[in-house]
Amino acid sequence: MFHRAFAAFPHSRQAVSCVVRMNRTSATSRGILADKVALVTASTEGIGLAIARRLAQDGAHVVVSSRKQANVDQAVAKLQTENLSVSGLVCHVGKAEDRQRLIDAALERHGGIDILVSNAAVNPYFGSILGASEDVWDKILDINIKAAAMLVQLVVPHMEKRGGGSIVLVSSIAAYSPFSSLGPYNVSKTALLGLMRNYVEELTPRNIRINCLAPGLIRTKFSTALRQDEAVLEKVMENMRISRIGEPADCSGIVSFLCSPDADYITGETVVVAGGSPSRL
Ligand code: NAP
Repeated sequence: MFHRAFAAFPHSRQAVSCVVRMNRTSATSRGILADKVALVTASTEGIGLAIARRLAQDGAHVVVSSRKQANVDQAVAKLQTENLSVSGLVCHVGKAEDRQRLIDAALERHGGIDILVSNAAVNPYFGSILGASEDVWDKILDINIKAAAMLVQLVVPHMEKRGGGSIVLVSSIAAYSPFSSLGPYNVSKTALLGLMRNYVEELTPRNIRINCLAPGLIRTKFSTALRQDEAVLEKVMENMRISRIGEPADCSGIVSFLCSPDADYITGETVVVAGGSPSRL
């Protein structure tokens, strides 16, 4: 009987889990993340904005942030016109005082913190890894890794007060398969997977889960250099073995899932969202 049912609906296992998730959502009728407070860094455009939108659509109060006030204002206005519960402030993740302000704002506005999505990254260098200057290494390690670690330290005590929480660090498929000429950036994204794994032992007893997202080639400003020239793009897509470029929204549902009760037993994992590009076995 079961066998026949699955034969009739080849994706029924997936379908069942979707139905469960939808039922839970409609059961609360306010979304699976209702009443959760989420911080998303670098969320005024691209992947961060898509994640902020999706978390808010699923019921969370989301604090949007990035370096420039004008970008924050624009993103907040856009999301508020979609009737989403968002506020925003400037947070350059490389600045300790900005990171603290982000935490304080969430506590003042919403009384706690349940979710952190650490999404900010820079890549100021394109060329041989042998030629990367100390300044380049400092900048990349500072923003892409150290800032994420500092943010985790800041949110953990507040998540503990709420009885737990969920953290997602945005890495990249470059963590597994280095992009040519982006050596220090690739290294920083591999290091994020290690950073995430190192937190698991101490966060699990605190009921805080931590996972990584590893996007492939996604259509944002960040990836413009790889997409500008048709011939270059064709080569990149061939090398990555993909038939289309991903959209920011392709990355957002999985983050909402990882932050939801449906993922209660998932921690220390990395989810690759890369359209079939080879990453690992
Ligand atoms: P994006 O569209 O270029 O957006 C970058 C965002 O980061 C903007 O909101 C920008 O706003 C903000 N930002 C930049 N530096 C910041 C800083 N120091 N502190 C806080 N905010 C900062 O980039 P994206 O492609 O969405 O990238 C997001 C994440 O995905 C990054 O971690 C990236 O490594 C990763 N990723 C991207 C791809 C891809 O193909 N696009 C693939 C794999 C992984 P302001 O200018 O106002 O600061």
